[in-house]
Amino acid sequence: MKKLINVSDYCRLYYEDVASTKNICAFFGCKPSSLGAFRNRLGLPNREEFYPELRANTSRKSKNLFKKGAEAWNKGKPFPQIAGENHVNWKGGKFINIHGYRIVKAPRNHPHAYKGYMREHRLIVENFNGRYLKPNEHVHHIDHDKLNNDISNLIIVSPSEHAKVHQPEGSLFGINAHK
Ligand SMILES: [Zn+2]
Repeated sequence: MKKLINVSDYCRLYYEDVASTKNICAFFGCKPSSLGAFRNRLGLPNREEFYPELRANTSRKSKNLFKKGAEAWNKGKPFPQIAGENHVNWKGGKFINIHGYRIVKAPRNHPHAYKGYMREHRLIVENFNGRYLKPNEHVHHIDHDKLNNDISNLIIVSPSEHAKVHQPEGSLFGINAHK
């Protein structure tokens, strides 16, 4: 089913979930070339700029992040030279991504995992409710602390509700904060 590419879903899939081009195209029902064109039109940067950890992990730490034999999303693509800090903190299979979310190993065959990993707060809500979250179900941290993943601090919201909550910060899923 064909959908228009909308910026909130696109940014979540592309920057937060680090979904593959194939999966993003499947979600929106579009061609790979449309994604690059969409990014160019809005002036959105390539995600390599936001994921220096993936760049590092493909060499030294790839055994920890990626399953054996799994193809990296950036395989065969040249990496730009990225200046700045590496925001990743490794702690036994968990790490904090550049957006400040704790990433953990996903359950086996999880439909929305990336390379076997997912955001911990979404997993906690899924375990609590006993079902997978849909991609258009966002999870908001009530106290705005992205690492406070106590179930009492997490609430399922729609993308538009979520955008409203974060509007005062002037950030689109934290992307502007990292510019
Ligand atoms: Zn939120």
